Amino acid sequence: MSTPPGPAADFPRIFPLAAYFRARLGGAARKVPLDAGFSCPNRDGTLSRAGCVFCNPAGSGTGLFAQGHSLAQQWARLAPRLRARHPKALLLAYLQSYTNTHASAGRLRDVLDEISALPGVAGLCLGTRPDCLDAEGDCARLDALAAFAERGAATGRGQPGPGFVQLDLGLQSADDRVLERAGRGHDAACFARAARAAAARGLSVCAHLVHGLPGAGPHDLRDSVDFLNGLPVAGVKLHNLLVCRGTALEGMWRAGRFVPSGREDYAQAVVAALARLRPDICVQRLAADPAPGELLAPDWGADKAGTLARIRAELHRRNTWQGRDGFCPDSPPRWGDTVEETP
Ligand code: SF4
Repeated sequence: MSTPPGPAADFPRIFPLAAYFRARLGGAARKVPLDAGFSCPNRDGTLSRAGCVFCNPAGSGTGLFAQGHSLAQQWARLAPRLRARHPKALLLAYLQSYTNTHASAGRLRDVLDEISALPGVAGLCLGTRPDCLDAEGDCARLDALAAFAERGAATGRGQPGPGFVQLDLGLQSADDRVLERAGRGHDAACFARAARAAAARGLSVCAHLVHGLPGAGPHDLRDSVDFLNGLPVAGVKLHNLLVCRGTALEGMWRAGRFVPSGREDYAQAVVAALARLRPDICVQRLAADPAPGELLAPDWGADKAGTLARIRAELHRRNTWQGRDGFCPDSPPRWGDTVEETP
């Protein structure tokens, strides 16, 4: 048995994104946010027009597609800026807005063809909902993504090519009652089916979780991590719930029917959840990032750096690390060399 490091020891206590990219892609990588003009079934009336309780009508989008900017034009505008700042980093296309598989398989294939043709693209990250992947049907969209990944891996351009495909898949909570109150329109079992179907095709799955949703119990984040541990998930993004302009949550907050969590509560919940998280799951985000001008509450939601510092301090104070409770009680795996890699 190895000697556990003491509280004073400074070492990476979570599996950070930089180390994951090094392992998967052979080096640093940056994401170029792109808008392909997809909608969302929870916004366009397919499921509902209300949206998830925390989502504003912009759906995390830039709106550039609606303004007439093609993917190639968006890439031409944004990629050189990132290249100038991070000359050694690989660039990944990141379809972030709305639900990027909410279309026919043919439309998705057209978008993937456009992405393949972007100069220097080294992979794809794509945000979507678990009920928009056909995991129970003919799997045409998942097959299109898998074909895109295989095609990219075979390009032989001396770099990884778009062979790397990550699906950013919203779960938010593993508690179906919480999902229902949040207006998600899918349950946890739907997420599990989608994650298994995607991973079976070689696609990486990064799950999104939110702490402090209406009706969530004090251990919701920890329990959701336990749920993810049983699935073929490669990454997780953790978020504090923000009250943003234009959301259903804004109305609840203004009426006094919702009170956001405090920063200390969030830090404690995150550290407890991280200690349960499987050590091979990369922690890709530790706190939410509000878009400029959208945050109403809590005040501390605008200070992401302060939240990250509080989480880091609490990991250190408890002398704990990712996976300590159940996977690696004696010492953490060697994820990286520096503590600065924490996302
Ligand atoms: S959070 Fe995602 S799934 Fe929910 S309404 Fe917004 S875009 Fe749709």
